[in-house]
Amino acid sequence: MLNNKVCFITGSSSGIGWAAAKLFAENGATIILNGRNAEKLEANINTLKTINPNNHSMFVGDVTNNTFLKETYQTIFKNYKRLDVLVNNAGILNDALIGMIPEDMVDLTIATNQKAVIFNLQYAAKLMQRNKAGSIINISSIIGRNGNIGQLVYSSTKSAVIGITYSAAKELAKSNIRVNAVAPGFINTDMIKKLPQEKFEQLKNSIGMGRIGEAEDVAKTILFLASDLSSYVTGQIIGVDGGMLI
Ligand code: NDP
Repeated sequence: MLNNKVCFITGSSSGIGWAAAKLFAENGATIILNGRNAEKLEANINTLKTINPNNHSMFVGDVTNNTFLKETYQTIFKNYKRLDVLVNNAGILNDALIGMIPEDMVDLTIATNQKAVIFNLQYAAKLMQRNKAGSIINISSIIGRNGNIGQLVYSSTKSAVIGITYSAAKELAKSNIRVNAVAPGFINTDMIKKLPQEKFEQLKNSIGMGRIGEAEDVAKTILFLASDLSSYVTGQIIGVDGGMLI
């Protein structure tokens, strides 16, 4: 499904990003990984090599560092001469009730979940415009659509991802670059491991399908949006939440 496609996935050392990387590789893609944890990324590259023999690579670094991002895309162009898919996935979650929100948490969450999404999209679109083709998948959240107690800061950035997706889809459609977002519900990754048991149970009980999602559930929708199966789909926000929002 993704033969000959070069795909950059931010935040692919673990969780949803890594599940997408593996599924993309199983479908023939060449994968470019990113994250801050070099050890995990090296292990992931070795796993990808066992899935297919393409020229997979990794960029260890922080997406909030714009110089790092700029250099990453320059090197992607130098090494591959193309970019077909961007999964704008790297993200962080920190909870705080309204009265307790510290300024540094606001700055870091916006820098990671919103500003880096804008600049990744900008640099990726430049490369994709050369081939007049591409697919950008932004990872939003059910919290960006519905809000949540204690998650005002996180939800503000995930709502922003929805606005970014709509605007970019309109602007880039004429270049044949599709821009969509996935809004996962409650997914079994490191991100939710620090939730107190009571909140965990409460969230689980709100899921129509009665189970929390796996990273692979989200990866399958990301694959659909990355591939030609969705060739006429752009500007859409697809919930992957097992019926949390219905
Ligand atoms: P994980 O914590 O498992 O993965 C987050 C990934 O982002 C890691 O690979 C991490 O890599 C990377 N990352 C975080 N900050 C940075 C940074 N500054 N620079 C580069 N990479 C970074 O969580 P998920 O897989 O669950 O999260 C993936 C996305 O899905 C996020 O955008 C999240 O908001 C979203 N999401 C998750 C939900 C869930 O229930 N799990 C629900 C809705 C949305 P490293 O540590 O190596 O830097």
